[in-house]
Amino acid sequence: MRILKFGGTSVGSADAICKLVQIVKQEYERGKAPALVCSALAGVTNTLLNLVNNASAGEEYSSGLNQVEERHFLIVRQLLEIKHHNQALLGLKLYFNELDGLLAGVKALGEASPRIRDKVLAYGELCSCYTISHILRQQQVPALFADARLLVRTDSSFGKANVNQAVTYRQIQDYFQQHGNEVPVITGFIASDGAGNSTTLGRGGSDYTAALVGAAVQAGEVQIWTDVDGFMTADPRLVEKAFPLKHLSYNEAMELSYFGAKVIHSPTILPAIASQIPIVVKNTFNAAFAGTSIGATATVNGSLVKGITSIPAVSLITLQGGGIVGHKGFSGRLFSALALAGVNVILITQASSERSISLAISPEDAAPARNAIEAEFEYELLKEQLLPPVVESEFSILAVVGENMKQAIGLSGKLFSALGRSGVNVSAIAQGSSELNISVVVSADDLGKALNSVHDALFLSPLKTLNVYCCGTGNIGSTLLKQLEQHQEYLQESRHLRINLAGVCNSRKMHLNPSGVNLGSWKQTLQDTGEQSNLEQFINQAVAQNLPNSVFIDNTGSAAVAQTYRHLFEESFSVVTCNKIRNCGTFPDYFTDKQVVRKYGVDYYFETNVGAGLPIIKTLQDLLISGDRVLKIEAILSGTISFIFNSYRGSKTFAEVVREAQEKGFTEPDPRDDLSGLDFARKMLILARETGLPAELQNVKIQPILPQNCIDAPTVEAFYEELGKSESYFEKLKTQAETDGKVLRYVGILEDDSIKIDLVMASSEHPFYGLSGSDNIISFTTDRYLFNPMVIKGPGAGAEVTAAGVLADLVRVAAN
Ligand code: ADP
Ligand code: ASP
Ligand code: MG
Repeated sequence: MRILKFGGTSVGSADAICKLVQIVKQEYERGKAPALVCSALAGVTNTLLNLVNNASAGEEYSSGLNQVEERHFLIVRQLLEIKHHNQALLGLKLYFNELDGLLAGVKALGEASPRIRDKVLAYGELCSCYTISHILRQQQVPALFADARLLVRTDSSFGKANVNQAVTYRQIQDYFQQHGNEVPVITGFIASDGAGNSTTLGRGGSDYTAALVGAAVQAGEVQIWTDVDGFMTADPRLVEKAFPLKHLSYNEAMELSYFGAKVIHSPTILPAIASQIPIVVKNTFNAAFAGTSIGATATVNGSLVKGITSIPAVSLITLQGGGIVGHKGFSGRLFSALALAGVNVILITQASSERSISLAISPEDAAPARNAIEAEFEYELLKEQLLPPVVESEFSILAVVGENMKQAIGLSGKLFSALGRSGVNVSAIAQGSSELNISVVVSADDLGKALNSVHDALFLSPLKTLNVYCCGTGNIGSTLLKQLEQHQEYLQESRHLRINLAGVCNSRKMHLNPSGVNLGSWKQTLQDTGEQSNLEQFINQAVAQNLPNSVFIDNTGSAAVAQTYRHLFEESFSVVTCNKIRNCGTFPDYFTDKQVVRKYGVDYYFETNVGAGLPIIKTLQDLLISGDRVLKIEAILSGTISFIFNSYRGSKTFAEVVREAQEKGFTEPDPRDDLSGLDFARKMLILARETGLPAELQNVKIQPILPQNCIDAPTVEAFYEELGKSESYFEKLKTQAETDGKVLRYVGILEDDSIKIDLVMASSEHPFYGLSGSDNIISFTTDRYLFNPMVIKGPGAGAEVTAAGVLADLVRVAAN
């Protein structure tokens, strides 16, 4: 015989009950009569609780009560033939009259005892099972309404009563003997004490009823029918990527449900374990799916971690004091005092110094726990052998569960590095000696992020998500977004990487969406739904979203944006940027940024600061990491100036060449920003700093290309005019170079702790002689590359290559 338990959502609407009927009929037609245990209609227990509270506060409750009544009536009208309506409605009406009477009493008294509360709550299950038994009978299933208050015997701990198994099993066995061929529809959750008062088994207790019935009749299986595809790797409402598990051991299921996986009520497992009855969790709305089977043994194949679960609200109470904590007898006194006060300790951790102990408890137990401790240790507190207990609230517990976890080397490392990378601070840790469970206490605000990042890390979820905030949608920004759109399929398939554009902004508009802005239509989205841009708000909102693996991309040239990186690092954001302003600030800032990045375990990549997409900074860092020593760096890092010198040939004037460069988009809006050598100097500075030189921008000695009159011109047009007037100056340089068979090159040199940028006439032996177009080139002379320096060469400007460099940095963040 099988016990089929249907939870609240499985009986919550006419549609759901139709599914239930199909499942029961199929089972019945197999030739074996099942027994049903059902919950109250979804939400009804909560509503009844609210109504008692309202009534005891002297408030109105009738309209709420009428709504509950109407829900049941509607199901009767929808699912029963008219000829059966009267009988069913009459029975329900009697229940609701009784409820009304009870609530009126509560209102008159102005208080509701736990006993009355249980009595009221019982009607949820009574009404649902009564209704369902009628519906099944009409469908030719010989259903029999069974009031569990006559079957399950408990003590009088109202709200969460303790079951007397011997009496309960006997009563259930007697009942089944009398009703062998029928299909009982047993009310879950409710029971009665020896005096006949209604009691309840604790919220979610219908599962427990089912297990008790199963154990009493030695059922072949207990099926828990609910609204998800089985026991899942995590709560699917909190972790989108959770997936159903095929199999769990009793221990694993008990541990997961004890730590908050409400898909099964934790005491449920106990009778099942004692009688070795298999439990199966199935989805009423997807009956064909196998669901999860729970049995004696754990599976060894598959993931060693079975699930991640959480208790959203706990308080931490910490005791300290060398005079007592950790001493013989202390724990005994502490736990007896707490037990006497009825405080349930969820988790205990003790520092190895044994000078402090922290306990996680339910927030409502915090006051009684503090009182119990203060009373028990009054003397020690007075003598200051013990410090007053510290109670902190707004914590959550995250627990990782799996029977074979002890075999998994490095698992806790993975757990903590996942938490660390998402910026989740761990306030306490406990690992059971069975290693069935590792629990961590984290701030309640971080729970969602913690669950998701740990789930990603431990279930080797093949897909890693980066939550990306893109600042700047100019040439480079929009090219990057286009590249991300074009490559998203490749990134998912080959790199197992999903880019979720959680926010995008430019100087006019901004838009954030934690579920992702479509990469193909971000422009439209910004236009249609974007708010007016505000950098501070953009960042505040991004931080508030608290998403794991958050990356901020700066594709602007803005100093204000560059100023925000430090704060972002501290909020656990990685930063990828092509904006070099931050790295060219003061050396102390540059240095502190690096330390903050290390402290918060985030990434900071800025490969495109020097040579656009060329792998210059990474190469330099790799040389240094591997123990090489940089003796000299020579480089041409201004694509603009390269282009200008390479095009300054024949009859073209220098001014014409500069204008052509500007028209081709190779220069800044004011070409002097390039020709002044400032941009080049910034790149040299960054390289120098990366080698460890504590340099400032003013340390870079720049040999100017432009005569003073060109530099001083008030506008860009005036500059061109002055440039025209200075043609003879440039002409002279050109002719001199040409007659010597040389070319003009603007070369940055870092050597002996000095940085300079010189205008050089390079002969054909010079390695930079053959540079064409707007290419960049850099040569590293190091201990290892001494006689034959390492050279990197290629296009060092342009939106496509720069955006590609940013994208490569982003993929590097994902790899960590
Ligand atoms: P029922 O009314 O059927 O008893 P519950 O709401 O008590 O249903 O339990 C099912 C719910 O438990 C699911 O809808 C899901 O949101 C939640 N849940 C929490 N943790 C898990 C988990 N690990 N696996 C499946 N469901 C879970
Ligand atoms: N109806 C009860 C509750 O909501 C019992 C259950 O659903 O299992 O807690
Ligand atoms: Mg439940």
